Amino acid sequence: QKEDPAIAEIGEKLKNVKNVILVLSGKGGVGKSTVSTQLALSLAHQDENCNVGLLDIDICGPSVPRMLGLEGQEVHQSNEGWSPVYFEDNLAVMSIGFLLPNKDDAVIWRGPRKNGLIKQFLTDVIWEELDYLIIDTPPGTSDEHISIIQYLKKAPVAGAVIVTTPQEVALSDVRKEINFCKKTETPVLGVVENMSGFVCPNCACQSEIFPPVTGGAAKMCEDMKVHMLGRVPLEPKLLLSCEAGKCFIAQHPDTVTAQAFVEIVGKV
Ligand code: ADP
Repeated sequence: QKEDPAIAEIGEKLKNVKNVILVLSGKGGVGKSTVSTQLALSLAHQDENCNVGLLDIDICGPSVPRMLGLEGQEVHQSNEGWSPVYFEDNLAVMSIGFLLPNKDDAVIWRGPRKNGLIKQFLTDVIWEELDYLIIDTPPGTSDEHISIIQYLKKAPVAGAVIVTTPQEVALSDVRKEINFCKKTETPVLGVVENMSGFVCPNCACQSEIFPPVTGGAAKMCEDMKVHMLGRVPLEPKLLLSCEAGKCFIAQHPDTVTAQAFVEIVGKV
């Protein structure tokens, strides 16, 4: 079977990128976009010489523009392609959300059209030299994921970060996600257990809200021989940082949650 010419084109387009990191989750609502966004912000914040790109290809629920306070920004198209929107000097952002005329519009395209758009996102965005390109993918292991992995065959994919919540229903999806990575020969950088415990806004102490299952991801990582990157608690201030489009570790450096993000960044 003849290889899709887009694969070589994407390899060429991403040749200035050192590490592509895919952020995956089994289910929606577990905090995949939060982790993608805060990971990108933290990498950019920790080192101003580190150039970071964030590409949101969660076609049906692009939340990155909102989480960075970039809603309503327009991307510019030139002969060479689309220019990303800059959050700070060293964080370039591209999202399907920038292309929708109204933020409440839904994207209800079917498979081939979605794949076409994902392909276009990978071929047409003009990235400068990047140390990291974080890709926020749609939830699950759908056809879109298979296309994404195929399109990135010649790109410098460092691996996947898988985001989950502690409950078994979410973890069983993560096992599928890990097996998907193994089948497609995508290295798993590790798992982030999000909403793992709760930080009280009054006394700042941490409580377990899913008592029997907290720590479930660590056990699963051990069983499946993948790294556990860190546990991010349910943290009201994190939600506020996301709503305000701010870097959490810069705003609240002395919190358990910031330490968790620093640990995750250190491991990817
Ligand atoms: P997904 O991308 O998996 O659908 P999101 O990242 O959009 O999930 O998160 C869903 C909602 O939960 C968002 O409003 C986000 O701000 C919030 N959220 C995610 N993780 C946390 C957390 N650890 N603490 C507090 N709120 C969180």
